[in-house]
Order: sequence, then C-alpha cells, then structure tokens
Amino acid sequence: MTQRIAVLGATGSIGDSTLALLAAYPEQFSVYALSGYRRLDKLFALCQQFKPCRVAVPKAAVEAFAERLHQAGLTCEVLSGEAGLNDIAGDSNVDTVVAAIVGAAGLVSTLTAAKAGKRILLANKEALVMAGSLLMQAVRDNHATLLPLDSEHNAIFQCLPPSVQQDNTQVHNPKFGITKLWLTASGGPFLKRTWADMQAASVKEAVNHPNWSMGKKISVDSATMMNKGLELIEACHLFDLPESKIEVVIHPQSIVHSLVEYSDGSFLAQMGSPDMKTPIAHALAYPERIAAGVKPLNLFELSALEFIEPDLQKFACLKLAREAMQSGQAASIVLNAANEVAVAAFIKEQVALTDIALINAKVLDKMTAQCSAANISTLADILHINQQACWQAEQEVILCRA
Ligand code: NDP
Ligand code: MG
Repeated sequence: MTQRIAVLGATGSIGDSTLALLAAYPEQFSVYALSGYRRLDKLFALCQQFKPCRVAVPKAAVEAFAERLHQAGLTCEVLSGEAGLNDIAGDSNVDTVVAAIVGAAGLVSTLTAAKAGKRILLANKEALVMAGSLLMQAVRDNHATLLPLDSEHNAIFQCLPPSVQQDNTQVHNPKFGITKLWLTASGGPFLKRTWADMQAASVKEAVNHPNWSMGKKISVDSATMMNKGLELIEACHLFDLPESKIEVVIHPQSIVHSLVEYSDGSFLAQMGSPDMKTPIAHALAYPERIAAGVKPLNLFELSALEFIEPDLQKFACLKLAREAMQSGQAASIVLNAANEVAVAAFIKEQVALTDIALINAKVLDKMTAQCSAANISTLADILHINQQACWQAEQEVILCRA
C-alpha cells in the first residue's frame, strides 16, 4: 500500500533529500502535503512536480500562493501558518509526517503528529530538546511511531535490538546488556583551528561543514558543537537514558555514525557515507530496506578512522547541554531558545561565533531561578519559558553588540 507522506519543511536540506527519495519510489510513497516558509518559489516548483493535495505557507503568503497555483492549473489547497501545519500533521489522510522544520517552529506540528498517532520521521531535534517528555508521552499514549532521521540517532536505533527499537523502555532490560551510547561528532570546521580563528570566523567559514551539506542553523550549531549538545539531549529522550550513559566522541571522518556499547564488550556501530539519504531511506522503509542511491563506502579506500575526546573549553556549548540535561527540562528549553537567538544574530553578523556559547551561558545563568521553580507539564509551559528565554537572549545580543 502507498504510504501517504507530509513533508513539513519541504524546502530545506532534509526536505530535498526526502523528496529525492520519494520521487524515486512513486509506487511506495505519495506526497500528500508539503510546507515551506521563505523559499516559496522552490515550494511552488515542488507543487508542480509532486502535485500535493495540501500545502502550508506563512499566513501573509497564502493568497498570492493560492493564486499562483490556480494560474498554473494546480488544485492544491493552501493552508495558513502554524494552524495549517497542524492541520496537515493531524490530517487523517496522512500516514507519515516528516518533521523537517528547523528550530522551535517545528515543535507544535510535531506534537500534533504524535497526538494523531502518526508515523513520525523526526529531523527536528529541537522539538525533543524542548519537549522531550511531553512528546515521548504523546507518542506512547497515541501509539505513534517515532523514527529518528538525525544520522547519529538513526545509527543508534539501527544498532539496538528490535525489542528496544519498538519500546525504548526496554533499553533498561538487563537481558539486552546495553551499557552506553556513543554519539559521534565530526568536530565541524574548527576542530583543528584555534579559539582565535573561531572568534574571527565569518558566516561563510562557519557554515562550511567538512563532511555534510545542511541548512544554515545546523551548520552553525556544528561549528560550535551545540549540535552535538542538542543531540545529546535528543538521545536521552529518544532512548530513555540519562546523559551519564551517553558519551560524545569526535570522529572527523563521519563514517561511523554512532555506536551502542554492550556489556559483553561489543560495540555495534552503523557506518556509511555521510549522506542524509541513508537514514531517511532507512526510516521511510523501516522495517524493510530500500536503495538510497548513496555512494557505497569503499572500505579499501578508508585509510584511518580517528576517535578523539572533545575539548569542552573550546566547545563550551557541549558542556552547557550536558549541564542543562542534568538540571531538567526548563534548562534545556532555555538553552535551545538562547542558542536559536544567538545563532540568528551570528548569521546576521551581529555577534561573533564564539559569542554564541557566551550568550547561551549567560541566559542559562540569569534564568537559573526560573528554571528551578518551573513546573513544565504542558505545551503552554514550554512555550512560555521559551519566550522568556528568547527575550533574555535578545538582551544579551544587544549587550554583546554594544
Ligand atoms: P533548512 O534550513 O535547510 O530547512 C528548514 C526548513 O524549515 C525549510 O523548509 C524552511 O522553510 C522551514 N522553516 C524555517 N523556519 C520556519 C518557520 N518559522 N515556520 C515554518 N517553517 C519554517 O534546515 P535543515 O533541513 O538542515 O534542518 C531541518 C531540521 O533537521 C533541523 O532541526 C536540523 O537540526 C535537523 N537535521 C538536519 C540535518 C541535515 O543534514 N540538514 C541532519 C540532522 C538533523 P524555507 O526554506 O521555505 O524558509
Ligand atoms: Mg546529527
């Protein structure tokens, strides 16, 4: 039977890789809905190619986009803003939601998909960082399926026993002997460069990732290693483990995508070329496999695989994420919000790359009291603290620029 797919964040980098796979398997997958935000010319071209039934765009763009589709003879329904994303995420005609919006903007629709019991292919790690418990609970309560697209988490998922894949609480079952998870990190473009190089880095240098081609925000996050910090929190929620059971190791070649350590001394790793089409194809076809069109690894050509301990002084964001995870949900929300504001300011050339960690630390510090008093149990609680942290981070950006 054809899987009907909604791609939220269709105009981005994950959207590109997903749609390339969907186009290659028209009998297995049909594109039911798409969303875009700023790149609406690209979204229009995707509508012409895939002819989705529904599409979501920002409120201000609805009328013009609908007119454009009409002129082109396309009968696609145009939905507005966040309500539109939610309509799609909960649509009874949708089997699978690909959550590929970047940042906090992807949270609500991902949660809606979970509440509607969908099969969710999750790229939007920020949703788990902000709302890990709520989202995982919604997945369990509504018998949704959550499959990670993030390459490290997808690698770990592939290295876990099937019973743990199906029920993450089984990770604690002693008979499976799971002792640790190892998240690999490339170390980004500044691995072998100095703090001073990082301080002087241009946006172009920071987004120039050595191994992966990705959207701007995650590329900056990779340069500061905040990405690995967010992934650490993401892994805690996905695999129901405390941060103390999750190690981060730098592996500059990005061939080993992550590992699971077992009590008998086995380390199971998933390897492959650094291409997001592999984890996306895995999740699309799971539990079966489809060809992803990815260049196979040539093991004879791999000269060396290195594994290095991260420098937590240079990559302070990674340390902040571990601390945030230890101190609770509110701190994770605050860190994520501060980081989004700081990264946006860096991309606008308002602050230096190294200011991102400083801003994140300051916001966490200033909001310590709110974090320890916060009782986070609803989406409204999460959005409230997110908003406060964004405001605080904006103040820090202003101070940084002064
Ligand atoms: P991109 O910036 O390439 O794409 C982001 C997508 O989100 C675009 O479709 C964009 O629309 C849309 N979007 C941006 N802001 C909003 C908003 N406020 N409301 C609704 N939609 C919005 O990012 P990536 O594809 O690289 O990343 C997407 C997610 O996947 C991130 O959470 C990232 O961390 C995660 N991820 C990405 C990987 C990668 O290889 N790229 C790897 C692992 C995880 P538009 O372009 O039209 O403005
Ligand atoms: Mg990743």
